[in-house]
Amino acid sequence: MHMVESQADTLIVLEDVVRRFEIADRRPLTALDHVSLGVRRGTVVAISGPSGSGKSTLLHLLAALDTPDEGTVVVDGQDLRRLSHSEQAEYRRHIGFVFQRFHLLPALTVLDNVIAPVLPYRTEFDKQARGRELLVAVGLDSRERQLPSRLSGGEQQRVAVARALINRPSLVLADEPTGNLDSATGAAIMDLLLTLREQLGITIMVATHDLDIASRCDRMLRLVDGRILDDVDMASLSEPEATWRRLGRLAPPAGGSSATRLGS
Ligand code: ADP
Ligand code: MG
Repeated sequence: MHMVESQADTLIVLEDVVRRFEIADRRPLTALDHVSLGVRRGTVVAISGPSGSGKSTLLHLLAALDTPDEGTVVVDGQDLRRLSHSEQAEYRRHIGFVFQRFHLLPALTVLDNVIAPVLPYRTEFDKQARGRELLVAVGLDSRERQLPSRLSGGEQQRVAVARALINRPSLVLADEPTGNLDSATGAAIMDLLLTLREQLGITIMVATHDLDIASRCDRMLRLVDGRILDDVDMASLSEPEATWRRLGRLAPPAGGSSATRLGS
């Protein structure tokens, strides 16, 4: 492994990351424009911003599903660009993914969906036992033999969250995980992610354009046109400031104290 020096409590370091997409007959589109960012282990980070601002692109780079044109992406001391193809595949197996569309396999039971990512592999753990443990953690142990079609959208997303955890990832990437859910169900999924972070110490990056979801996270980045315009430690906010965040305003009216900005 190619280790990069980083502080032990830092899981993710992005340095000056640029990702451009070439589109025929058009100027290249800069999806990420010199993004630098450090993320401490155990943090739940919201990546907010409008559609097309680069949220998914950032998650794809963190998943080693894509590589930057410039800059470095380091996760857990590993410079992702320097991994071989087989090392990248191994790296991806230890990242959890949650998607907007739950992507459950309709012909498999709930339990088999949870263990589907490890079915092709020999594991040193009992797949069924761990799958059941995770279904308990997401509150669906009584549904393990059912097919996904019997479950509500929120329940299906809980199954997808359990599936994301089957390999005990230290990093979970969630791309608009509440985008197909009503707001109460979406909030419940976000609460589940926050609880799992407490229990398992995982680091979670959640792309969302829902400010209510984003404001439940520990930290909120705001991407616009591929740049980080705003980086806020939610715990440092006073209640009125947090409310203004939820309303999508940058700051409370004059007179309120200003939000603490984190260095990147
Ligand atoms: P978000 O997830 O915030 O909606 P994306 O990261 O998907 O934004 O996209 C950022 C920008 O990059 C958008 O303008 C999008 O059209 C463009 N883009 C993303 N992926 C590709 C691709 N594979 N080819 C061309 N353009 C892309
Ligand atoms: Mg997206």
